[in-house]
Amino acid sequence: MRGSDVYTTVEIAFEESILGCRKEITVQHEEICPCSNEENRTDNCTICNNTGKVLKKFIYDISIPRGIFSGQVLKIKGKGNVGINGGENGDLVINIQVKQKKGFARTGQDVVYYMTISFPQAVLGAVINVPTAYGTVNCEIPAGIKPGEQLCLAGYFFKNC
Ligand SMILES: [Zn+2]
Repeated sequence: MRGSDVYTTVEIAFEESILGCRKEITVQHEEICPCSNEENRTDNCTICNNTGKVLKKFIYDISIPRGIFSGQVLKIKGKGNVGINGGENGDLVINIQVKQKKGFARTGQDVVYYMTISFPQAVLGAVINVPTAYGTVNCEIPAGIKPGEQLCLAGYFFKNC
């Protein structure tokens, strides 16, 4: 019989969702009880109450791909509850939650950063520091920019825009 899937949630920072990251996660799932081994066989196993399965703690180092969205699910095959009588193991199903970052939003493969500039900066143009997941980048604001206008810093997030 196939083992059932195990579900867990991992929270990551906004920057980690942009760059990708590795996370160590601790989960509990069922493993075969030692009594299933021929030499340990007993009719009265006190570890598993003769179910043949025990709950064990596992630590997995998982790789979270760059550009992941909040609510996206990663599946790690075979790391769920153990199958019995030759059945396959279940999967580990990881729900990724991305923490919000003030001033930032995701639209598809782009990251949008909302910035307020002063009236003189809008009229005269300016160079403004923009925080990105790759560090601070200088953004040149052309003279005469209008409220709500968007500037594009190509290549700083996932794709060129
Ligand atoms: Zn047992």
